[in-house]
Amino acid sequence: MIKVDNLSKSFGKHKVLHDISTTINQGEVVAVIGPSGSGKSTFLRCLNRLETPSNGHITINGKDITDPKTNIAQVRQQIGMVFQHFHLFPHMSVIDNITFAPMKVKGWTQEQARRKATELLERVGLADKADAFPNKLSGGQKQRVAIVRSLAMEPEIMLFDEPTSALDPEMVKEVLDVIRGLAQTGITMVIVTHEMRFAQEAADTIYFLDNGRLVEKASPQQFFNSPQNERARQFLEKVL
Ligand code: ADP
Ligand code: MG
Repeated sequence: MIKVDNLSKSFGKHKVLHDISTTINQGEVVAVIGPSGSGKSTFLRCLNRLETPSNGHITINGKDITDPKTNIAQVRQQIGMVFQHFHLFPHMSVIDNITFAPMKVKGWTQEQARRKATELLERVGLADKADAFPNKLSGGQKQRVAIVRSLAMEPEIMLFDEPTSALDPEMVKEVLDVIRGLAQTGITMVIVTHEMRFAQEAADTIYFLDNGRLVEKASPQQFFNSPQNERARQFLEKVL
């Protein structure tokens, strides 16, 4: 579903991603782990071309998204992204936040969009918040709405960039539970996270990035029990 070939990214003279190649299969859940500044966000942002790669190719469903001729808006419709800081529209109610893009981009009627939104809100336990405004929600609720807003577009791929890093500890679980549930629906996901236990339980594959290099790619079992890479070993010693 996602094929990355020799991806490199520089900001000016600073090379942030070095020659990353990998393939992510349909339905695969990848957790991306690594020290701060190792390039995790940049890697994720290249996958929907929020960043333009300096070198290499990324193919999604057979379409080279690094080709300037590719209609990137169309590609992005298949890819949902959830950020650390929610990015909800503050002046819109929860339901309007969710229905806005499906109506505008997919041409759904308000009724269609609301039906889908309501179903998704129920799934994440927020049906009663449809008419609330974001500033009335807790961080965990905001993040669940942000996830629903992405899902309303019926993406084939979901990208998460530290979705729980801005949350109070007691709200982390409610968000991780939603993501865990999604992992079981067969959607392809790439999740940058510092939640090691979650990565261990929910991911099919762990990617460890160090200094812009994909230095280890392993099953959770292998990665957490016997990491092959020395930097990965040191990292795990610090965080576990
Ligand atoms: P991580 O998400 O693993 O913390 P990032 O991908 O955010 O790492 O950043 C990797 C490196 O790229 C860092 O050194 C960061 O300062 C640099 N970087 C990220 N985005 C930009 C940008 N837009 N311009 C310049 N440097 C950037
Ligand atoms: Mg980051």
